[in-house]
Amino acid sequence: MAGVNIDDVFKRYGSVQVMHGVSIDIEDGEFVVLVGPSGCGKSTLLRMLAGLEPISQGTIRIGEKVVNDVLPKDRDIAMVFQSYALYPHKTVAQNIGFPLKMAKRPKAEIDEKVGRAADILDLTKYLDRYPKALSGGQRQRVAMGRAIVRDPKVFLFDEPLSNLDAKLRVSMRMEIKELHQRLKTTIVYVTHDQIEAMTMADKIVVMRDGKVEQIGAPLDLYDNPQNVFVAGFIGSPSMNFVKGRIRGASGAREFVSEGGLVLPVPAEASVADGHEVVYGIRPEHISIGEGGVPMDVVVVEPTGSETQVFARSGTDLIDTVVKDRISARPGE
Ligand code: ADP
Repeated sequence: MAGVNIDDVFKRYGSVQVMHGVSIDIEDGEFVVLVGPSGCGKSTLLRMLAGLEPISQGTIRIGEKVVNDVLPKDRDIAMVFQSYALYPHKTVAQNIGFPLKMAKRPKAEIDEKVGRAADILDLTKYLDRYPKALSGGQRQRVAMGRAIVRDPKVFLFDEPLSNLDAKLRVSMRMEIKELHQRLKTTIVYVTHDQIEAMTMADKIVVMRDGKVEQIGAPLDLYDNPQNVFVAGFIGSPSMNFVKGRIRGASGAREFVSEGGLVLPVPAEASVADGHEVVYGIRPEHISIGEGGVPMDVVVVEPTGSETQVFARSGTDLIDTVVKDRISARPGE
């Protein structure tokens, strides 16, 4: 087991710079999720950790060792990809044991480690099957088994669940988390899905355009986003943003949007009369009832467990999620 230290790393492809001084500290045993929109540099960073892509500038350490010039096979890491890349003509046992066979380990050791990995991943009864006779989730578990048998210092996961259907993704999410709790190996996990990041990570790294926007525990990012990008990216459904101005002196400050919506200003907000601001409100922090800010209902979407209501005031459209079953109709 080992921690990982990424220190001021840059990446250029020819004359195009795609990573601009990224620094991340990952502790031994930590589950870290790199999240951000497509093209922000998550996979590039993961591939640089794996040694599959050279870094243009900066330092990467795995444990105490600088690995900038260390070959992938000597980095003591295992990578699980989005496409499981199983060998179709090998059984589950042969697929899981393949890295050990390549390393010319003795048969007894291979059998023992394959048996242990299959036990951890609940694959024991499928060891003699071929990949085509497995479900998507089972195949993904075989791919993880192949990573586990190598007993690596660090696991790297590159969007491992994106090929699975929604229901399976939720159960595999739990399995990977459970696997981490059992093995306690450092995990660096890449996804564009903020829900995956929120539910799995000890620590989330939010990236955009080859830079780190914020690093923190999931609820820390949710409660204390440092900028509008992080505020809008973390949380589902997304935070509402309304542009406007502060009106009035301290004690009696209020926010007035461009569309005329008037909202209270939290006491701790360091804004003064006349300041132009972006006001953020999470959909789940709004309740619906009499005596509040008047708005017109635009769309009501009941999901059973909750109701999502889009409402308008002037030009401002606000998304709300409430636990109650709302019977309001559009226009009310
Ligand atoms: P993500 O995984 O977050 O979707 P990537 O790491 O794949 O993002 O890509 C980051 C940026 O680097 C993108 O702008 C992408 O176009 C660019 N990029 C990735 N690989 C190459 C390459 N081999 N040559 C040139 N540009 C690349």
